[in-house]
Order: sequence, then C-alpha cells, then structure tokens
Amino acid sequence: MTDSLTFSTIPHAAPTSADARATLLEDPAFGRVPTDHMVIVKWTVEKGWHDATVQARAPFQLDPACAVLHYAQEIFEGMKAYRTAEGAITLFRPEENARRFNESAERMAMPTIPEELFLDAIEALVRVDADWIPANDGGSLYLRPFMFASEVFLGVKPASEYIFCVIACPVGAYFKGGSKAITLWVSDDYSRAAAGGTGAAKCGGNYAGSLIAQAEAMRNGCDQVVFLDAAEHRWVEELGGMNIFFVMEDGSVITPPLGTILPGITRKSIMELAQAAGHSVLEQPYSFDQWQADARSGKLREAFACGTAAVVAGIGEVRYSGGAFAIGNSGDGPVTTALRDQLVGIQKGKIADDRHWLRSVD
Ligand SMILES: *Cc1c(COP(=O)(O)O)cnc(C)c1O
Repeated sequence: MTDSLTFSTIPHAAPTSADARATLLEDPAFGRVPTDHMVIVKWTVEKGWHDATVQARAPFQLDPACAVLHYAQEIFEGMKAYRTAEGAITLFRPEENARRFNESAERMAMPTIPEELFLDAIEALVRVDADWIPANDGGSLYLRPFMFASEVFLGVKPASEYIFCVIACPVGAYFKGGSKAITLWVSDDYSRAAAGGTGAAKCGGNYAGSLIAQAEAMRNGCDQVVFLDAAEHRWVEELGGMNIFFVMEDGSVITPPLGTILPGITRKSIMELAQAAGHSVLEQPYSFDQWQADARSGKLREAFACGTAAVVAGIGEVRYSGGAFAIGNSGDGPVTTALRDQLVGIQKGKIADDRHWLRSVD
C-alpha cells in the first residue's frame, strides 16, 4: 500500500466572503460554523486508498442501504489547529490522533490509513481553510477526521468500501459558561462501556449509547454525565467525551486506568505535565464511594475533566440520585489552573515546546 497520495484540489466556486467570515468568527460557538472545504479519500478492497481530493464542503449522497446507516461502522477523531501570536499555524500531537484513529479502525474491523496520508489530509484542509482559524485567544479550528462504511449492502460483515473525510469548524469555548467549573451527574442506570466492548475506540456508536445519560444529566441541571464501570457500577471511568482527574491533598493526581475508557491525548499530555511539575501521577481505579468520602473530608482538593474540545474543565459539584457534593471551593483549583495554563500555553506557542508536541503547517 502506498503511504501517500497526491491530493487533487477543486476549490470552492463561491467561498465565504472575508466580511461574512469575520462575522461568523466573532461567535462561532462549538461546531455550528462550517468552513468552505472538506477532504475526502476513498477506500475499496480492490484499490486500497485512492481518489484523495480537497473540495467544496457538500452533502454526501448515500444509498439507503449504505452500511454505516445500519451497522454503524464509523470512527472519528477530534483535534485542533491553532494560530500562534506570530501567525504560524500549529497542530497539537496530530501523530497521536493518526495512531488512535487506526486503533479505532482495527477495533471496528475497518481499514487502517497510513499515518502520513492521515496527516496530509489534515494539513491539506488546514491550508485551504487557513483563514478560518480564529486569531483570538480562546479560539481554534476544530478538525474532525472520520471514516464510515459506504458499501451498499445489507449483509452483516465488515464493509468492503469506506470514505475517509475531514471537515473543520472554527470554535470558541466548549462550555457556554466559559471557564466556570462544571457540574457532573453520576449515572445510576447506564454504563458507557464494558470489558471487551468498544470503550477505547473513538466510534460514533459509543456516543449514541451515551446520549440518554447525557440528557438525564442535563435534566438534573448538570453539564455532563460521568460514567461508572459496567461490571460493578463502582469505579469512576470518564465523562461522555472527556477523561477525568482527581487532585489530592498530598499533591498526587489520580486518573482512571486505560481499558474501557478512551485513551485521551489530553489525558496523556496532562499526565506528563503533572509529573514534570512534581505531582505523583497515579493511573488507578477510584471508586465513587471514595470520591464522595474524599470530597467531604477535604482529602480531594480538585477534580477536572479534559479533552481536546473543552481542554481542561474544573469540576465544582457532583450530583447523583441520592444527593450532591461539592469539590474544593467549587471553582477551578490552583493545580487545575496551572495544568490548563501550561497546556494551552504550549498549544498557542506561548510556552516553549520542549516535548516537540507541536507540528507546524506551512
Ligand atoms: C475524544 C474523547 C476523549 C478525549 O480525548 P482527547 O484526545 O483528549 O481529545 C475522552 N473521552 C471520550 C469518550 C472521547 O471520545
């Protein structure tokens, strides 16, 4: 299989005007404002990856028997392009997204994509839609690579045709409240993933199954749901789309171990930053009972959620069917703030990138 393809570009015939774009960039919210282009690469059993194009963003035409509509063979990634103060464009650890995308692909019996082709596709879109990258402090261009089974066939088997696509949208803060601490809802009835399941794969199906719990969280006045493990309903796993960290009185930082959770790149980066800042970082199971006890005794000082979309969000309060408890001073604690500032500083080119996490797009 060739590792790279030449992209043919058919620019948008009537791209958004600079004025209209400036207005849209003033308050893009999250995921509502599309850029002008998309990248598509096709895969078939016979040809492998082929037909790489950069083209005007447009709807897909899908046959009603298109496999993804029935058996949900779909995976995705979420990453951001940043504009530095000097005007350069950077991506944060995109090779990690490429690697994880392929791990998700393998779990879902889909073809893997050469890392180089994945990165070329991302960069091609970032270049053509570079004017859509917000230059303001909290803004970035959210990139959504995804792949779905496009074969027209109702039989149950891994499909023999797939479409890989990358779209983008300028984004501001993920949570409407800005950097206000979030409130979590602990789900009694639902779990996100079980051992042997797809919890570690970034597939749309995981989200489909989590939406009812997220809706329950919102009905209870919470921002996000937090899931406990499926087997014992005892161990804290993660949120619908974010990993979780606990900062203890003794300075140690705890995060649930990999397995049924999504291996977040933000999680991995925060672990490295926390370690470098002198915290002992423990990947270990943490129970909901312990969480309550530690929050009440003060042994737990801070907790935060993290992911590409929301970056680092302090957790102020936790609600469950039997009550509620606050964490620390219910706002962002000093460790949460320091880790966020460091991560964002590196991403925006304000802090030296000693670990070579940034990849610049020229
Ligand atoms: C994407 C995702 C995360 C966060 O991963 P990042 O690489 O940090 O963006 C966490 N949990 C779930 C379920 C996810 O889908």
